[in-house]
Amino acid sequence: MCGIVAYVGDRTAFPILIKGLQRLEYRGYDSAGIALHNGTSHVYKCKGKVKDLENLVKDKDISGTVGMGHTRWATHGEPSDRNAHPHQSMKGKFSVVHNGIIENYTHLKKELSNRGYSFESDTDTEVLANLIENIYLEQNISAELAVRLALSRVVGAYGLVIYCEDEPGQLIAARKGSPLVIGVGNQEYFLASDATPIIEYTDQVMYLNDEEVAIITREKLELKSLSNDNLTPDVKKITLSIDHIDKNGYEHFMLKEIHEQPATITDTFRGRVAMDGSKIFLGGVLDVMPKLINAKRIIIVACGTSWHAGLVGEYLFEKYARIPVEVEYGSEFRYRHPIIFEDDLVIAISQSGETADTLAAIRKVKEAGATVLGICNVAGSTISRETDAGVYTHAGIEIGVASTKAFTSQITVLLMMAMLLGSKRKTLPQAEYSTLIHELISVPEKIEEILKEEEKIKKIASVYKDVSNALYMGRGLLYPVALEGALKLKEISYIHAEGYPAAEMKHGPIALIDENMPVFALAANDTSYEKMISNIQEVKARKGKVVAIVTRGDKSIRKMADHVIEIPECHEAVSPLLAVIPLQILSYHIAVMRGCNVDQPRNLAKSVTVE
Ligand code: GLU
Repeated sequence: MCGIVAYVGDRTAFPILIKGLQRLEYRGYDSAGIALHNGTSHVYKCKGKVKDLENLVKDKDISGTVGMGHTRWATHGEPSDRNAHPHQSMKGKFSVVHNGIIENYTHLKKELSNRGYSFESDTDTEVLANLIENIYLEQNISAELAVRLALSRVVGAYGLVIYCEDEPGQLIAARKGSPLVIGVGNQEYFLASDATPIIEYTDQVMYLNDEEVAIITREKLELKSLSNDNLTPDVKKITLSIDHIDKNGYEHFMLKEIHEQPATITDTFRGRVAMDGSKIFLGGVLDVMPKLINAKRIIIVACGTSWHAGLVGEYLFEKYARIPVEVEYGSEFRYRHPIIFEDDLVIAISQSGETADTLAAIRKVKEAGATVLGICNVAGSTISRETDAGVYTHAGIEIGVASTKAFTSQITVLLMMAMLLGSKRKTLPQAEYSTLIHELISVPEKIEEILKEEEKIKKIASVYKDVSNALYMGRGLLYPVALEGALKLKEISYIHAEGYPAAEMKHGPIALIDENMPVFALAANDTSYEKMISNIQEVKARKGKVVAIVTRGDKSIRKMADHVIEIPECHEAVSPLLAVIPLQILSYHIAVMRGCNVDQPRNLAKSVTVE
């Protein structure tokens, strides 16, 4: 949540900051702001998007070779000009951009008020700016020491960039819980919440760890712990390229990402499955393989779309590896008193690898001694670093806030893991193992076929674009896909939608059905096919509208549904990978037809780094 970008070097900072903010806008878009330092500091900020900020600064002084920018996802205080970042301390000594939440800000604010501080915004961030300034002025110390002392009093999460008027040419960065990457150039440094604003200038990056502080001038980067130990920066080469962050001619990132799925799923399994179907190799979990094979239970922790992928994983692990599975929301799991055993295997799924609740959950299970695997998309992310082992999804950067390709790549990883464990535990016979590998390999081609149906799906979207409610139902492996279909629709089109296991309809939701209610029925599964037919009949008997996702050539459901969307025949194990595609396309077109901002839906942000 929230995008931070900052620069120190010889170039004019402004274009680097604006371009960086545009790249980071998917992380938050409630307001945008920059501070430029050039002897004096200029802060420009406003409610709205980076575009609004660009309009605001026309005719303004935008010189300066040191600067910081922020695109906000509001937590404390409404989206407004005065709550936008950067925040300046009351006496004007410090400018701060912040990602995260200062949890004890009320207490600190009271303390500062008693010392004569007043506040212009409702944010927790301004409290921190004033706390730093108060310590700095009272103790007459360096800015860096004041920052470290202030942070030692803070409870909460932060990614921060701080500038002190008395120490021009220097930026101070700090992190706890919210990501910050530093790009190392030639006598210049770039800071950002992720690497996308950095890659066109340098491929040398270092990730700040929790409780680390970087003191950066154009000449050098000094790294310290909060408690003042000197640390050595671990600078690495990054492989992300500029093509990965362009729309490539598509109208929206989400559409591009939907269309990328044949390639991204291939990238997920490439080099990990033998094309002759003989084996699966997951290098990232090799070291912990004995623990995986002997796990007594798997606990999957995730949030949102990743949680839906986790539910698919539950079916796959139980079926093929015969290990009991629990799927947990990170936010609930972390605050319960969960019972965790040393021989539990915990799998954390997070596209960004920064999801605050999932991260907190894995820290908790690590204390209990369980083995933790990560399934993340962003290489070098916090979850990928804090887990014992893991498998990257390799889906490439996902910019559309509504996840599409990351979801299918997560399922691909879970399927490979379930098959691999099934084979090692001898619960999955070799012949079936081999069949499943071939099935997985054939998925990208089948998705290409579904993508060719986009125009037809778009027509169906036009029929339902004005509804206020929608239901999704599925059984077995397609039940989580029903949940995901409903989530996609609500998050980008603001239509209220719910997903249900089809058999649950008669325990309540069926009361909602009338001639205005569309029901998206996932009926492409062999095992539950007959039962889905009955569930569709139940909806039709109450005059509901049925859009059914069926296997190509299906005749029975065609007769009863209002619309059918066919997907190619496939093994049940890979059916979620195919069945979700038409639902993504439907949601996308419905949202576009309703005039919604598909890539940046209201109130949402990518990479949820607050709890
Ligand atoms: N808590 C801060 C605010 O509400 C930062 C939010 C963010 O991460 O964008 O302003």
